[in-house]
Amino acid sequence: MHNAHDGLGHVDGRITPVCDRAAAVLKSNIMSAASSPAGRSVWPIYGHEWAVHLLQRTLDPQAAGPRHAYLFLGPPQVGKSTLARSFAQALLCSAEQSRPCGVCRACGLMARGSHPDFRLVQPLDKPLDKEGVADRVNGMLRGEQATELIQEAALRPMEAQRKVFVIQEAHTANPTFANKLLKTLEEPPDHVILLLTALDRGSVLPTIVSRCQVLELRPLPVPVIERALTEGWQVETEEAALLARLANGRLGWAVTQRADREGAGRRHAQLEQLRQLIAANRVVRLDFAEQLAAGRDNQQLFAMLELWAGWWRDVLLAQTGCLDACCNIDQRSVLARQAAALSPLAVRDYLYTLQRLDGYLHHTVNTRLALDILVLRLPHTTAA
Ligand SMILES: [Zn+2]
Repeated sequence: MHNAHDGLGHVDGRITPVCDRAAAVLKSNIMSAASSPAGRSVWPIYGHEWAVHLLQRTLDPQAAGPRHAYLFLGPPQVGKSTLARSFAQALLCSAEQSRPCGVCRACGLMARGSHPDFRLVQPLDKPLDKEGVADRVNGMLRGEQATELIQEAALRPMEAQRKVFVIQEAHTANPTFANKLLKTLEEPPDHVILLLTALDRGSVLPTIVSRCQVLELRPLPVPVIERALTEGWQVETEEAALLARLANGRLGWAVTQRADREGAGRRHAQLEQLRQLIAANRVVRLDFAEQLAAGRDNQQLFAMLELWAGWWRDVLLAQTGCLDACCNIDQRSVLARQAAALSPLAVRDYLYTLQRLDGYLHHTVNTRLALDILVLRLPHTTAA
């Protein structure tokens, strides 16, 4: 039988998609890890300095004070929720200055996740009354959650001067949630502050965006992630260097990977699969596509596409003599061999193909056809 973690992911001469759901589970744990790295009790944020300064300024007693709504935008796991939660803690902290202080009663309650004036609203996999649990990837913010939010927002705060709501993944809001939220944003109770996170402007109703102060978080530079991993999470230098390059600017992703012992094995297995597919004939390639389609695991598929895109960018870099700038720094000899065996034009074409297919697959035009193209257009060589 095929073992997902046999390190190769192939049986009977076939190349099978490496599958694993551990990543999804770990993904949901990331924020608790990211909010408490060792040795950083105050604003545990690496990078995004401008955003931290902007938010800190609103805490200044001389300033006009915080606004009623903020919208944190950026790619998944770039640090939106970590920043929103730190800001929430600062808003609720009872210290005179240097908020959040990390030692007052309010900070203690926040650390334990039990501050009565803080609420985290997350997308659910099922409606609230059917015991839905948080699912930030495939879940949805639902109407009844907004009803709850409005009822709670109307009540006076119990401990602090304010009530703070963090609404994660606002782009997953269904129309009922979005409309109810909009009403609250139009006339928020004085003591209420809403902190929303979402992927980008286009994914949220323009009327919601216009009522929020928008903070667009950019992917972090490699050195920032590298330092965060070694300082905050005690990752070994070599591993930190690799993860920081593979992270595409998302510290949350790097932290998840470091905790995910199977993640490294999965990456090796997928790279090995790709290496075999490059040398494989049409029949083997189409068989692989068929299994991918049958797997129906989109999260897995997009993770694989991201890995492939990173790989081909590296091959192209190697072909232009920039092997040092590669992300897959532990694979330099394979990259160099493939760079020598393939034409730069073929590699560039395939990168375009990957980009286009990513778009098609996100709109689920015709998954099977897209996957066939994905494998058939792969550059071919048996020399690497
Ligand atoms: Zn405090």
